[in-house]
Amino acid sequence: MTDLYRVLPEEMDKLVTEIGQPRYRADQLLHALYHESPRDMSDLRQIPAAMRDALVAAGYTIGSANEAHRVASEDMQTTKLLLKYGDGTMIETVLMQYPSKTKIHPRSTVCVSTQVGCAMGCVFCATGQMGFKRNLQAEEIVAQVLHFARVLREREEHVTNLVFMGMGEPLANYTETIRAVRLLTHARAFGLGQRSITISTVGVIPLIDRLADEQLQIGLAISLHAPNDKIRRRLVPTAGPHSVEDLFLASKRYFKKTGRRITFEYALIDGINDSPEVAAELAQLLKGNGAHVNLIPVNSTAGGFQRPKRQLVHEFQRILRKGGVNCTVRVEKGSEISAACGQLRTDMVKKITNSNID
Ligand code: SAH
Ligand code: SF4
Repeated sequence: MTDLYRVLPEEMDKLVTEIGQPRYRADQLLHALYHESPRDMSDLRQIPAAMRDALVAAGYTIGSANEAHRVASEDMQTTKLLLKYGDGTMIETVLMQYPSKTKIHPRSTVCVSTQVGCAMGCVFCATGQMGFKRNLQAEEIVAQVLHFARVLREREEHVTNLVFMGMGEPLANYTETIRAVRLLTHARAFGLGQRSITISTVGVIPLIDRLADEQLQIGLAISLHAPNDKIRRRLVPTAGPHSVEDLFLASKRYFKKTGRRITFEYALIDGINDSPEVAAELAQLLKGNGAHVNLIPVNSTAGGFQRPKRQLVHEFQRILRKGGVNCTVRVEKGSEISAACGQLRTDMVKKITNSNID
């Protein structure tokens, strides 16, 4: 069985010809899939029954991804969905909305997961602490976006941005992640602008180089968290051969090839990587390269890590800026519903929401 939601437009052209249909049916099918959100084959009403039967006979299907639970923050700007796939696997995906001063509709960013769990084991991250379960298929990644697209369509809104910052390490599931990006950005499929997408990685260097060669205009965020290997290895135990220096050089190569500036994410943790000396060391490493640092005061998870006091966060930011490095503090979203960075962990949600899951 092949899910129609993993078929790229070029492959769809070939597929419709193979089942004896005219080429224009490929566009009809893609339009129905990406703009009408059918739940199963019988929902594809514009497609003639004979073609639907031929698709089924050729082994094509529309996989199921059902909403098992939904929570919204009090201000309604953050919504977390627990999605359940056909095999019973569950993942979390988050919608963050930012009201706009100039536009009627808010910016609506979907934060997608690429893996169930994660093998990288970052000590402050709930997903890392649950270990690696499995990779998600491209169609399972796409389903997360389409689910929110459907929710938003009912309010005459749409998905405007996408960040690969949910559960898992996107580059450790490289092929399926890139297929999902191509499906979501292809003008004949979901059609989101490449520049509206950011992939966040803990830093798998050969794959950052491979991504730079994909001819995509997507943004890259590297989770750095430290200006030196001593601190970084403590936070990212799997960093192994990937030194801070090598990561920085890889980011420069990415910028050179794609023209897209890199964001460095930095989870600020009380007493570990938040001192003025560390800030100065980070400024020294990054200055003069047009890099942008996004400070994320750490969200509490099981690891017992605390965020620094607000004053220290501002001091850290001030030192970076003074040292010539662009720096912002991430706007906190969703922590009261455990939907903030690093808080996605399905086994905990399972316990809390057991009664809502079929
Ligand atoms: N695996 C990828 C993408 C998912 S994590 C990566 O690590 O980049 C997305 C972001 O959330 C990363 O920058 C990660 O470091 C950050 N993060 C993880 N746990 C966090 C926590 N407890 N508090 C704040 N940020 C956290
Ligand atoms: Fe994996 Fe990213 Fe969490 Fe690290 S921070 S464990 S790479 S999801």
